[in-house]
Amino acid sequence: MFLVSWLCLALAGWFVWRWLRRSPDKNPMEQGFPGLTLAVLAAIGLAAYWPTFRADRAAHRAGIAASVLLGERVGYTCGSQLGTFIDRNTDFAFGYVRWGPDGPEKHSKLRHETCGGLVDFLADLHLRGDAAARQAKVIGVHVVSHEARHMAGEMSEARAECQALQRNAPLARALGASEAVARELALAYWQEFYPRMGPAYASSDCRQGGPLDENLPGSPWNLAR
Ligand SMILES: [Zn+2]
Repeated sequence: MFLVSWLCLALAGWFVWRWLRRSPDKNPMEQGFPGLTLAVLAAIGLAAYWPTFRADRAAHRAGIAASVLLGERVGYTCGSQLGTFIDRNTDFAFGYVRWGPDGPEKHSKLRHETCGGLVDFLADLHLRGDAAARQAKVIGVHVVSHEARHMAGEMSEARAECQALQRNAPLARALGASEAVARELALAYWQEFYPRMGPAYASSDCRQGGPLDENLPGSPWNLAR
């Protein structure tokens, strides 16, 4: 939809250019300022840009929240719908952190769908909605948490995943959610979604008292009590 905004801008520019180059010989009634056309193009352009604007704002908020938790500046960007298919680097992942010779970049790219869930979560800071909406919100926040662990230097998917799920509650809090909603989100991921993850992500070591337990107060098993 971002392309539509650019197309509207280009068309508006063309109409203005045409008006500026109007002929003095012609009837002025036929060469009036194209105000209505520009207003329509502005309305279409802004409506098309709105989802991109919301996604960018959500990514920015995620960056601030994750930076607070990590104690260093990290950032996120949201991929476009089209980018899901043309951005080969992200390999259709929900989120992606590029690694350089000096370690991970302090920047993560989030897939379009991930950002959709994040945007919806930030809109009401609640998990209400149907099952699909709830799932999208939980996954959206969790992927932000997961990519933050890669940016912190964790390469292993299973370890990053376990570290992330132990930080989902504080991340949700940093995003502005209430204590109750943050707890609900952390428990939902751990109890409903983590058991469905494949062996590359889920580990039997990720449990209370297990080798990957960091004994954080926000861990889902500590919140479950
Ligand atoms: Zn990962």
